Amino acid sequence: MARYTGATCRLCRREGMKLFLKGDRCYTDKCAFSRRSYAPGQHGASKKKVSNYGVQLREKQKAKRIYGVLESQFRTYYDKAEHMTGITGENLLKLLELRLDNVAYKLGYGASRSEARQLVNHGHFLVNGKKVDIASYKVSVNDLISVSEKSRGTEKFKVFAENPKTLPKWIEANIENYEGKIVAEPTRDDIEIPVNETLIVELYSK
Ligand code: SF4
Repeated sequence: MARYTGATCRLCRREGMKLFLKGDRCYTDKCAFSRRSYAPGQHGASKKKVSNYGVQLREKQKAKRIYGVLESQFRTYYDKAEHMTGITGENLLKLLELRLDNVAYKLGYGASRSEARQLVNHGHFLVNGKKVDIASYKVSVNDLISVSEKSRGTEKFKVFAENPKTLPKWIEANIENYEGKIVAEPTRDDIEIPVNETLIVELYSK
């Protein structure tokens, strides 16, 4: 599957904020954005006036980059969100939150969404007892996400289990059993990403 292969830290610098794409490194003084908090490129440090379109575009790019989704897939999420009942922007974020790689990340499996995605791709997870190795797989309420028996014995997963994360209220976990359950759909208040989804809707509505 296609994915962005350029320098990850450039993405944060381009968006003008830390997107926490590299896990532990993002919390150290090695963070490229902490050192150079201006856009990459020859004119990155110069101040430019940004149009309305530019502001909307940046908001979309930010959301794509946080979830590690490319343009065509993001557009597909948007089209789905538009056909759901409720507010399109919130539906869009909800669909992104319910991706299996994001849920694995929320459960503490991976220091970043990209690490969690890799773990999913490598077949470490089961959904309702069946192996799922598709990062974009959409989980639903009452789904049980677990780590495969084989992977539970590995050092990597033991370390994850010993360092549990604070969970959003739509996920419950039984860390000792390497299990997590979706107990509700996420609401906008549960989604902590720094994105104004209304601007994305305005961009795609043109
Ligand atoms: Fe962004 Fe993390 Fe790189 Fe810092 S270290 S620029 S937060 S990806």
